[in-house]
Amino acid sequence: MKVCRFLRLLVLVGLVLAGPASPGFAQLFSGGSGGAAKPLVIDFLDIGQGDSILIRSPEGKTALVDAGPSSDAAAQFLKRKGITALDIVIVSHHHSDHCGGMDQVVRDFKPKYFMATSSSHTTKGYLKLLQTVKAESITAVAPTAKPRKIELGSVLLTVFPQPPLDHQEENNNSIGIRLEYGKFSVLMTGDSETDERQWWLAHNSSLIRDCTILKLAHHGSRNGTDQRWLDLVQPEAVVASLGAGNDYGHPHSETISLLRKNEIPFLRTDQRGTITIVSNGRTWNLVNSGLTRRGGSRKADAVAASSSDDEPGANSSSSGSRSRRR
Ligand SMILES: [Zn+2]
Repeated sequence: MKVCRFLRLLVLVGLVLAGPASPGFAQLFSGGSGGAAKPLVIDFLDIGQGDSILIRSPEGKTALVDAGPSSDAAAQFLKRKGITALDIVIVSHHHSDHCGGMDQVVRDFKPKYFMATSSSHTTKGYLKLLQTVKAESITAVAPTAKPRKIELGSVLLTVFPQPPLDHQEENNNSIGIRLEYGKFSVLMTGDSETDERQWWLAHNSSLIRDCTILKLAHHGSRNGTDQRWLDLVQPEAVVASLGAGNDYGHPHSETISLLRKNEIPFLRTDQRGTITIVSNGRTWNLVNSGLTRRGGSRKADAVAASSSDDEPGANSSSSGSRSRRR
């Protein structure tokens, strides 16, 4: 996509004007009281060909990673879920299938923090988003040279150090995040392609190692996942957000074969609708599915996946989320 120099400049200025993080940024979301019995709830939204991930901590802290391609689908989803405010929104990178709906989300939910990279790649839509962030006086923050910790109550998000910006391929400017809640963890790296993932493998492998759930990078593209990545992550299941019959052929057959070879359950929003995962910090469950994790054999569970409901510990708001947007 062509990027005009003028837009690049405005994007850079916009982020600067929005200001850096305050020193206490990481701790601002910590604490909270009560709700100890509630689980962590993560929704991988069925938002077409794009990403949008809603994170709700047991303490009621909320984060939204990406907002899909549609201008209002993510905001509508949040309203249906009874969300009234967001603590932080994160744009993994500047492509419209990740930030197309973020402007409406920011307008409607006025998050405390907005996280994005300083990549100069932009579009009119992304520029409009930055202007909204500024107009709403939302504090803009960015990944740093060292892992950046964000506490959502008892849920910890670690934002990966950002590799040197790739001015040719915006996918390689994706923000990487490791979510941890007790022994449960999720790895999300936007649309990171081989170059960016190799950089993290070389510099931050400990952040990648042993994650319970892997959100496939780049919607299951062949350039978003490889054997070395899976060997380190060792996921119990993978999730991909994508639109049915998308123009890119996602997920690529090479990725499907790789997952089959490694016997890793593959959860796709184009097949299941919104995918909701809950965890109490020890075990995790896929809401409204028989795919259940309790620290046992991944292979056995993959084979045993059935259609029975299984929602121990989940709150009612996270069930029944399979309705299709399209
Ligand atoms: Zn994408």
